[in-house]
Amino acid sequence: MLDLMPEPVARLTPARTAIPIAGGAAGGRAGERPVQVRPVPIDGGGPVPLSFSTSTRGARGKPPRHFVDLTPEQRVEAVAELGEKPFRSKQLATHYFAHLTADAAEMTDLPQATRDRLVAALFPDLLTAARTLTADAGTTVKTLWHLFDGAKVESVLMRYPNRTTLCVSSQAGCGMACPFCATGQLGLTRNLSTAEIVEQVRSAARSLADGDLPGGPARLSNLVFMGMGEPLANYRAVMESVRRLVAPAPDGFGMSARNITVSTVGLVPAMDKLAREGIPVTLALSLHAPDDELRSELVPVNTRWSVDEALDSARNYFEVTGRRVSIEYALIKDMNDHAWRADLLGTKLNARGRGWVHVNPIPLNPTPGSIWTASDPVVERVFVDRLRAHGIPTTVRDTRGSDIDGACGQLAAEEE
Ligand code: SAH
Repeated sequence: MLDLMPEPVARLTPARTAIPIAGGAAGGRAGERPVQVRPVPIDGGGPVPLSFSTSTRGARGKPPRHFVDLTPEQRVEAVAELGEKPFRSKQLATHYFAHLTADAAEMTDLPQATRDRLVAALFPDLLTAARTLTADAGTTVKTLWHLFDGAKVESVLMRYPNRTTLCVSSQAGCGMACPFCATGQLGLTRNLSTAEIVEQVRSAARSLADGDLPGGPARLSNLVFMGMGEPLANYRAVMESVRRLVAPAPDGFGMSARNITVSTVGLVPAMDKLAREGIPVTLALSLHAPDDELRSELVPVNTRWSVDEALDSARNYFEVTGRRVSIEYALIKDMNDHAWRADLLGTKLNARGRGWVHVNPIPLNPTPGSIWTASDPVVERVFVDRLRAHGIPTTVRDTRGSDIDGACGQLAAEEE
């Protein structure tokens, strides 16, 4: 357990405490189907089980009610219950969504007593920054948040020359138990509320607007649900947060839906439901293997919805929304990086049509305690070339922040 530092601390190489996983990489010569070995936990506790319900690690209450959890009508009611005029609701929304503040001191167009009362009742502090780590000359900032009940989540803000991207968490922990993912080893603690998700966004957007990142003040342009948790397992709160993100100010941040990516292990009924929402967010499917045998090891929910079912649903998403789907594929050395698997993936994608999908191979970001590593660069190159030979647009994901464990719940795992 690391000390919690109340002040932002830049630590590029955080001390690692072992988390209870050990990888079982498969051997096998080129062209051979390797033997897959399920990772064996070093504490002998067995693999993390797949779970759709929260852990029994203490009964956790709901986060306190926050302005952002309420619909515009409910906000008016809440303000009236506090003895204030309905138009105050709109002023509060403007402060929150347009000025990116929940600080009474900044709401100078409201009388002092009014703003103090409204903020105390409607803007509880839901997130407390416990640690901040930076990388890439300050253009990548990762924050570890403590929630009201001590649960921990992370978000990562990345500034690029032509865009800014925030990676947010949708759950504390995760129940999907993917063995290569640090968050997957934690189990699920609980779902985040709408406001807990949106507060990650407001905080990042404010930090950009204030010019905290090198390059001067900027707007938040892109958002990915690729932090901790399985967003489609917390469907309601995630969709409500998306509605707040895309609603024009003052009811929301006015972001473009197409710049919001929801990444999923492949919860098929929820993917089908998302297609029917009429909000054209980008869908990313974490495939990681084109065959059920291996995918059931890497993404245990595959035992419920198979590769073909997940791909059919992804294709349906494209048909209904017109949005090209991303396939995520973490390249794990000698595990899933074989040329024949690239061919099988290309064949399965093309069997469902052309132009509907692109593939994002991601070099594995090794988690502490696991012996799995990223693929050899030459093997990665071959994998990408094979996919492209099938006509599949393929771009290797850049691995920003991997030196601060940027990708996958590792910071929170360290503290458990
Ligand atoms: N639950 C969602 C969001 C998770 S994180 C999902 O699974 O899609 C976003 C992506 O990071 C997923 O594709 C996930 O499989 C991948 N990922 C997790 N751990 C990783 C690791 N150690 N290295 C590389 N990618 C990883």
